[in-house]
Amino acid sequence: MPYSPAQAPLGMFGGTFDPIHNGHLRTAFEFAERLDLERVLFIPAADPPHRPPPRVTARQRLEFVRAAIDDEPRFALDDRELRRGGRSYTVLTLGELRAEHGDRPLVLCLGMDAFLGLPFWHRWEELATLAHIAVAHRPGFQPPVEGPLAKLVAERRSEDPADLAASPAGRLFFFAGTQLELSATELRDVLESGRDPRYLMPEAVRRMILATGAYARPGDQEG
Ligand code: ATP
Repeated sequence: MPYSPAQAPLGMFGGTFDPIHNGHLRTAFEFAERLDLERVLFIPAADPPHRPPPRVTARQRLEFVRAAIDDEPRFALDDRELRRGGRSYTVLTLGELRAEHGDRPLVLCLGMDAFLGLPFWHRWEELATLAHIAVAHRPGFQPPVEGPLAKLVAERRSEDPADLAASPAGRLFFFAGTQLELSATELRDVLESGRDPRYLMPEAVRRMILATGAYARPGDQEG
């Protein structure tokens, strides 16, 4: 019997969000539109593996995400990786979400840079069995042409969003939306050098960051 999904696909957008910026938000919004996601869950990593420790605390990064997505009804904050503690392994998060949502289509949304690093993720081969994977092109990063990811692409790629809505997991979708050349690294650099991040991030987040002195160079903070 063909699979008939009871509910529209749910998107998951994880990240360090150190800090959240308009590249994250626009990408997540375009994923929601293109894949007709009922909702996109923003899932800040508490303790992200494979990168240096974030510049500010997980709680601060989460509060910035909360403020950033506040006015978009299709976006929601999911704080499970902070509540769970330990390393923020995506496979554990997806496993929990799969258990909560039965056979609803789940879509792990990634930028191309994150996708290219997938083989280094904990139990990475399980990810595509738990969710679909949707990948946004990002300036400076090319799709894989060889190795395990190229194999994954060959086996699972779909050009049609309807394929993702029609099954719980397992397809891979590439998406070339508006490609904003913007990164949290660049935002940290702007903030640390005392420049103004206006129009690179939501105004509410900009105000919180400036008011708290988060990301200021040590010694530059008031107090
Ligand atoms: P950093 O510069 O600190 O590495 P980042 O800007 O890449 O940070 P992350 O929080 O590491 O942000 O990324 C979370 C997710 O958002 C990843 O899947 C990443 O690929 C994606 N992403 C971040 N910025 C963009 C962008 N400008 N366009 C598309 N995807 C993006």
